[in-house]
Amino acid sequence: MTHSTPLAAAQDLIKSANSILFITGAGLSADSGLPTYRGVGGLYEGQRTDEGYAIETALSASMFKHRPEITWKYLWQIGSACYQARFNQGHAIIADIEKNKPNTWVLTQNIDGFHHQAGSKNLIEIHGRGERLYCVACDFESTAEQLLANYQQTISLPPHCPQCGGLIRPDVVLFEEMLPEKALSQLYQLLDTMPFDVVVVVGTSAQFPHIQQPVVLAKQLAIPIIEINPSETELSVLASYHLRGGAAEMLNASWANE
Ligand SMILES: [Zn+2]
Repeated sequence: MTHSTPLAAAQDLIKSANSILFITGAGLSADSGLPTYRGVGGLYEGQRTDEGYAIETALSASMFKHRPEITWKYLWQIGSACYQARFNQGHAIIADIEKNKPNTWVLTQNIDGFHHQAGSKNLIEIHGRGERLYCVACDFESTAEQLLANYQQTISLPPHCPQCGGLIRPDVVLFEEMLPEKALSQLYQLLDTMPFDVVVVVGTSAQFPHIQQPVVLAKQLAIPIIEINPSETELSVLASYHLRGGAAEMLNASWANE
C-alpha cells in the first residue's frame, strides 16, 4: 500500500496494529506546560546550580547521601515546575489506544506520572514517579501532595520522616543510581518477546540506552517505527515515518481520523 503522506501511513499502521509500544519523553509533557528537561536534570541543562555544581551532581546519589538539602532544593524546584500541571490530550490518546488494543504498552522516561493519571495501565516508568515519596530508613510512604499540605509556607529541606526521623525522598532515579528492578524486568520481558506491530517514539531524543534499545531492536526485527518529534533526533535515522510536530497534535491526528 502506498500513502500520500507520512501521516496517512502512520494512521494506517496505528489503526491496523494489534499492539503498539509507545516510547515517550519530555516532548509529550511539554504540551502540559512542563519544561523539556533531560531526565530529572534538564531544567538546568548546561547551567551550574547556585552552589556551583552541575545539576547531575546536585541530583546524584552521592550528593543525596552527603548533602541531602542540596539535592532536595533542586528536587523541590523541579517539583514546583510540575505542580498543578496535568496530563494532556496526547497522554489521553495513548490511554485510549490501550483500551482499544489491550496489548499496547508505554515505556516512559518522564517522572511526572501523567500516563498513570491519564489511565495507561501497561506502563513502565523507567525513571520512577516524582509524586511518590518514601522514607529511606523505614516503611513510611507519602505523596508530594501530602508533603505540601503539611509544610504549608515554611519548608525546611530535606523533609524528615514523621515516624522515625529518617530522610524522605521521591521515588525517582537519581544520577548514579540503578534503574528500578521491577521496571527493568518488565522492560526486558517485553524486549525478549517484542510482541509489537508498531513502535511509536514520542518527544524523546533518547539519550538513555534503555530508551534507545527497544527502538534499535524494533529496527532489527523490521517492526515499523514512527517518530513524533518537531526536530531531528539520533533516532530519526531508524524511523520509518517522521511526524514533525507537537506530540499531542500529532497523536491526535494519527488516531482521531475516523
Ligand atoms: Zn522513617
